[in-house]
Amino acid sequence: MSHDLGPGYIAEGRNPHVPSEKVVIYDAAEAEIDVDEKYAIVCDSHQSVTSEAFLSDARADMEAPEGFCSGCRGLVLHGYSAKERG
Ligand SMILES: [Zn+2]
Repeated sequence: MSHDLGPGYIAEGRNPHVPSEKVVIYDAAEAEIDVDEKYAIVCDSHQSVTSEAFLSDARADMEAPEGFCSGCRGLVLHGYSAKERG
């Protein structure tokens, strides 16, 4: 993996909807991501961002990105397996 983790990186998980992509948790301040809460959760595949005050909630978002990412939600709704994606 040549993924650039960058500043503020905390954790990452495989995107359950886009097998080759990740969902990443950052410390928002260190990563300079402009969100309301301490932790920023980013869907690498769709560039969607949300935030949580608690790491446990951030991890829940990481494991179920359809909760904040409209791109992932679309994949779930349409029952589409994104295997052919880049
Ligand atoms: Zn997504």
